Amino acid sequence: MNDFAFHAPGSMKEAVELLSQYDGDARVMSGGTALMLLLKQSLVNPDHIISLHRVPDARSIEVTDGVLHIGGLVTQREVELSPVVQKAAPLLANAYSRVATVRIRNAATVGGGLAQADPAMDPPSSLLILNASVKVTSATSERMVPIADWYSDYYETTINEDEIVTELLVPIQPSDMAWTYIKYLPRTEDDYATVSVAAMGKAENGKISEVRVGLGAVSSTALRATGLENALQGAEVSLDVLRDASQAIAEIVDPTSDPRGSADYKRDMSVVFARRALQKVLGVKD
Ligand SMILES: Cc1cc2nc3c(=O)[nH]c(=O)nc-3n(C[C@H](O)[C@H](O)[C@H](O)COP(=O)(O)OP(=O)(O)OC[C@H]3O[C@@H](n4cnc5c(N)ncnc54)[C@H](O)[C@@H]3O)c2cc1C
Repeated sequence: MNDFAFHAPGSMKEAVELLSQYDGDARVMSGGTALMLLLKQSLVNPDHIISLHRVPDARSIEVTDGVLHIGGLVTQREVELSPVVQKAAPLLANAYSRVATVRIRNAATVGGGLAQADPAMDPPSSLLILNASVKVTSATSERMVPIADWYSDYYETTINEDEIVTELLVPIQPSDMAWTYIKYLPRTEDDYATVSVAAMGKAENGKISEVRVGLGAVSSTALRATGLENALQGAEVSLDVLRDASQAIAEIVDPTSDPRGSADYKRDMSVVFARRALQKVLGVKD
């Protein structure tokens, strides 16, 4: 780990001004759960660390005008336990509850997770199918990034070096759609997923009205299976239809082999768990 100057600003305004002042030579620290590992392994070597632990802003959770607003410094444990999130976006509360352990979730923040952008993380697939957006703030501006444009590659996002994630915005989850989040982890309960699938769906008179499917851990970023969603719209609700349609998942995933499974295994499991998630939200038995 290299030597660095440690800054603990007392407001978000001060934090973004410091970030701008050190112009690419600084890293923001929120929970520190990922950044400390990056520093220890010398994968990042900033001259300045700007810790947000004294910043009082960006710590609220509220619903306004049909949108759930979660501050960037809210911890992942707070999201999981918040009655506001559980009511407005139960899928999201569930996805955050599956992250690692309580100890990690007590420190890790929403903004830190969004910026870290590990494709095997739990929340991204749900954020994709909930059509979330990310608010980022710099010393001179503020902008909103649709989640579909947020993740750009392994551990990369479209955030600029002088920006801080200050809010996550999530439209209220439609109450007429069933939902599920499946985290397939054959090793230990607190591991990253081998494959994960978030899904929502509804059907009427035996026909699928709408489904949404997001996948994690099977590509350089979390994915939304829009081709599959479109193909299933208006289709008959049956196991055969879901089984056939889910095969399309094999074409869009691009997993890598690692200790959690070979690329081929993960591709096969993506198809299996996408189908199971669709069965769950559409009420289709084996
Ligand atoms: C042992 C272990 C197991 C884990 N298992 C899982 C798992 O099963 N599922 C899962 O989803 N995740 C898992 N994680 C990842 C965990 O979710 C991330 O470490 C966490 O989300 C990072 O949040 P943080 O607040 O600690 O970020 P930090 O460590 O503080 O920062 C992470 C990165 O984001 C930047 N950053 C921090 N805050 C901001 C901000 N507000 N704006 C812009 N940039 C920012 C930092 O500069 C750094 O580059 C695991 C982590 C560990 C250590």
